[in-house]
Formats: sequence, C-alpha cells, structure tokens
Amino acid sequence: MRKIVHIDMDAFYASVEQRDDPALRGKPVIVAWKGKRSVVCAASYEARRFGVRSAMPAVRAERLCPKAIFVPPDFPRYRAVSRMAQEIFRRHTDLVEPLSLDEAYLDVTENKTGLPTATRVARTIRKQIREELQLTASAGVAPNKFLAKIASDWHKPDGLFVIRPEDVNAFLSPLPVERLPGVGKVTERKLQDIGIHTVGSLQSLDRTALEAQFGRYGLRLYELARGIDPSEVVPNRPTKSISAEDTFEHDLLLIELEPVIRRVAEKVWAASRKESRIARTVVLKLKTSDFNIISRSCTPSSPPASCNEVTKIALSLCERVALDPSQRFRLVGVGLSNFRDADSSPAQSALFG
Ligand SMILES: [Mg+2]
Repeated sequence: MRKIVHIDMDAFYASVEQRDDPALRGKPVIVAWKGKRSVVCAASYEARRFGVRSAMPAVRAERLCPKAIFVPPDFPRYRAVSRMAQEIFRRHTDLVEPLSLDEAYLDVTENKTGLPTATRVARTIRKQIREELQLTASAGVAPNKFLAKIASDWHKPDGLFVIRPEDVNAFLSPLPVERLPGVGKVTERKLQDIGIHTVGSLQSLDRTALEAQFGRYGLRLYELARGIDPSEVVPNRPTKSISAEDTFEHDLLLIELEPVIRRVAEKVWAASRKESRIARTVVLKLKTSDFNIISRSCTPSSPPASCNEVTKIALSLCERVALDPSQRFRLVGVGLSNFRDADSSPAQSALFG
C-alpha cells in the first residue's frame, strides 16, 4: 500500500505577490498582463470572491472586479519560490514529481525523517512552507495519486484532507463523475446519457461495457471508479522545453514583430536561467491571423549563452518565414528546447548541432 501526498500551493502567484508587497495583502489581486487578449494567470482569494478565476480573459476579470489590482506575472520569482518549496519536499522524500510551479506529488511510503504517518509528513510540510516561505499550501493524503489530488482540493485553501484506504469507497461513491481525472465535458455527457452521474453509479458498469463505450480509457474509468490508480510518482522529470508567447491586440505584419520578439525572448531567457540545464535549440512560433501555426528552429553549434543571442537567433528565424509580406499574425512565441547538462564540453555538444 502506497502513501501519496499531493501538495498544492494556494493561489500561488497571487500569494507570492501579496507576500512580497504588503500593500497588496487583503486586497483582490489579479496576476495578469493588461491587454485585450490577456488571460488571468492567478487570482487572490479576495478576487475569487467576485468570480475571478485563472485562465479567464483579463478583460472579463476586470469587469467582475473593477477594484482588483493587476500585477504583471514575474515567473523567475515564482520559479525561485517553487524551488524552495521543492527543497522542503525533498527533506521528506526523493520521490517528488512536480506538476507545475505550485503542485507536486510526493511518494512518502518511506520517508526520510522517520515521521510515523503520511498525515504527519503532510502536516510538517505545510508547517515548513508556512514558516519558511510565509505561504500556505493545501495537502491531500491518499493511497494513490488521483485520490491525493482530489483530497488536496477538498479543504482548500490552507487545508489538509486525508483519504484512508478503508474510506476510499465511501469517499468516492457520492462524487460526481466529472471529478475523475480525464472525465471532461464529452465523457460526462455520454455517461449522463446512460444515467450515470456519480462515481458510485459508475461502478455498476463492468469493464467490457466501459471499454466498448470509451475504448482504452474505459479500463482507466473502471479502475478510477474503484479507487485504483497504479501510476507511480515519477521524480524530476527533466525540462523538455520552455516557451513564452504573446497574443497581440491587433494582428501584426512580420516586419512589425521585432519589438514583441525581443520582449518574449527576454521572458523565455529569464525563465531558462532558473534551470540547471542549458537549452541548445531556439524555436520561433507564429500564428497567422487565420490561425495557421508556423514554427522555425535553430540549433547553433554552441548553446545560446545570453538573452541577446537568443533574441538574435529568434529574429533571424523570421527570415525563414516565406509568406506574403502582407500576411498578418496574431501571436508570436519564442521557445528554448533540447536541454542538456551544463557541463557537457563544447566539442561534445557540437556533435548534436
Ligand atoms: Mg495551486
């Protein structure tokens, strides 16, 4: 039997902003760039009271909560705080799987500190985050990943919820099926059409019926309905790529993109500096006004070593976009990928060029 903890920092970006600027505390704070096409990256609980949510258009958030204070996101800072949180997790176990800057799964079946239960580990981590980072985190404790994730959301914010193995079925049965991972609008509707609304009623369908209806996902559904999730905590997934993009208020011509590319390249460079490994490939992504995505990439013989180099490469990639000069674009992105260990010698890395 495994013991899994899911930790989810509360309103993470907004909480970091409130922590670092006392003038923001107790106020509705929305982390987002201003602009017609911008979306909310995070909202403080004071702003959520007005119905503001992550991923909502910033314009709508402003209408819902006109008094909100908009703060532009500062990802390098959030990344630095996230690293400190992960350092706390690693005091307890090496099996840490970060899902994003503010969420991670921990397998604490065996923990490093000798605490007797997973619940005590979760409680200690929450306390350490509060005392050392002056932030709050919610935690879920359960025998597997998917239940731990549901549990961390149960008493959010600043909550702890434990699903003991013997309580799994009683906890799951009344839940609406949409709480199961992978059940989106389409699956939910299909299930509702056959009278299935709760996880308990989903248990009445056998494996064959579910596989006939949902293909490979049918087996997963069968297991989830019974609280089974064999997926393991995969520690330290290495970064595959980092990117930043910008959607424009008005579609732009290729020759007008330079200032935007400079800005986006700067953002991506700043984010990459928090990585222990070094990116070798620069990617330029463009979306035309009619939503076609074009991407061009370049892997120089030695990895780009400054913001200036990344920018120069991204700008030169524009020259490889062979479209009518009157073509307009709605979005530009710059990415870094092909991350390698920083210590591989230049001669060696040239082999990968
Ligand atoms: Mg969170």
